[in-house]
Amino acid sequence: MTNTAYETIIGLEVHVQLQTGTKLFCRCSTSFGAEPNTQTCPVCIGMPGSLPVMNQKAYALGLKTAVALNCRIPEFTKWDRKQYFYPDLPKGYQISQFDLPMSEHGWLEISDPKGAFETKKIGITRAHLEDDAGKSMHDEAAGKSDSRIDLNRTGTPLLEIVSDPDLRSADEARAYLTELKLILTYLGVSDCNMQEGSLRVDANINLHIPSGDRTVATPIVEVKNMNSFRAVERALLYEAGRQIEAWHTNPVELGSPGGHKTTRGWDDQLQITRIQRQKEESSDYRFFPDPDLLPVTATADDVAAVRGQLGELPAALRVSLVKKHRIDEYDAHVLVNQGRPLVDYFEDLAAASGDGKRASNWVQQDILRLLNEMGETIEQFPVKASALGELLKSIGAGDIDNTRAKDVLQEMVDSQSTAADAMVALGIEKVDASDLESLCQELLEANPAIVADLKAGKRKAVGALIGQAKKKNPNVNPAQIKSICMELVNKM
Ligand code: ZN
Ligand code: MN
Repeated sequence: MTNTAYETIIGLEVHVQLQTGTKLFCRCSTSFGAEPNTQTCPVCIGMPGSLPVMNQKAYALGLKTAVALNCRIPEFTKWDRKQYFYPDLPKGYQISQFDLPMSEHGWLEISDPKGAFETKKIGITRAHLEDDAGKSMHDEAAGKSDSRIDLNRTGTPLLEIVSDPDLRSADEARAYLTELKLILTYLGVSDCNMQEGSLRVDANINLHIPSGDRTVATPIVEVKNMNSFRAVERALLYEAGRQIEAWHTNPVELGSPGGHKTTRGWDDQLQITRIQRQKEESSDYRFFPDPDLLPVTATADDVAAVRGQLGELPAALRVSLVKKHRIDEYDAHVLVNQGRPLVDYFEDLAAASGDGKRASNWVQQDILRLLNEMGETIEQFPVKASALGELLKSIGAGDIDNTRAKDVLQEMVDSQSTAADAMVALGIEKVDASDLESLCQELLEANPAIVADLKAGKRKAVGALIGQAKKKNPNVNPAQIKSICMELVNKM
């Protein structure tokens, strides 16, 4: 029964905090971590008679994002009040956008370099601006049951980005979120810090199950409370499993009695979702236009100007790296997903070393490993791309092998020196060709058994000779030892 074929239908709602210094409708600071209730004013706590004024920068950041997400930007957009009662919402309503959002009908392309799914465009239903609520703090320490409210976050600008229900698996959902976060980071519109709540995800999920000659849909569930992409992935997998089980136990269709949309929360500790409430219909919010705020207009010229200033976005950057540096798509994916500063370092390194493929390998393996060990960002990394480029050139010229070059990079990091100085410090010097030949001759004479193996075509036997050569002189290049030994054996 449980192996029934079904399709998982997923749509995501992402709330992202825009990186403004001040709130959406007042001049209170949006900085994170201040003493509770020190960043509030009559406007953001909804005192009667106070008047909101739109933050131009918040609108500009929202517009930039919407254009990057290929959305249609209407010329006219307005603000609406969304009424609901909750202790962290002092105004008694949220200022949001209802029927005339600032952008709609966009798309975002997702791909998987490992081929888990086909490259596809995910529709963006809409992206609109709204203000954030405050935070409830539940003190569950022994003997206490206080709940307190911090209104510092109240009024912080959010962009709500709603996808079409185009995602078909937890893998695709993760790819969508990863790409969206990357775009937001490249645009510099949000710090996307999930621990601080700068990027929050709600997922809508249900199943389409073939039944006879038609397809039935299970009731839609909105999963809230996920604070990492990993949690989103797990919650979706859990929820798909739970819905198919529920269908087999008691088949209830979407829209039929008992088949309404529900909200469930993700319990990260138990790795399950739990029912929270039946979802309000939008009529329950009694939306109406906010009489205190002016509508906003965006002309075609405004939108064109924003489009002209977007810069290179991740998808285009991947394509250009592949072309420019002759690296493969997978490598471009890894590099671009690390963020723009790392891509800049890679491009400088590729230019300095004249070898894109080698630069890409070194960045992905050694630089990322060192940054991880040092707990630093690429901007803090002590070895400049130009200095590392010199070292990579020496590898390309056959003056030093990869393994030894890694020691040199470590020395460059430790002593903040150039490649040349680091090689001197490690006692590395280029070994003379005639010295190499006599060393190989010596080794062959001392190892008749290996020579016999090599003559018999067992080419792997040369490895033992390389090992011995490196013991005698750590600066020899293994590739050179190998080719000289093989040459000498052939002449014997
Ligand atoms: Zn305020
Ligand atoms: Mn919202």
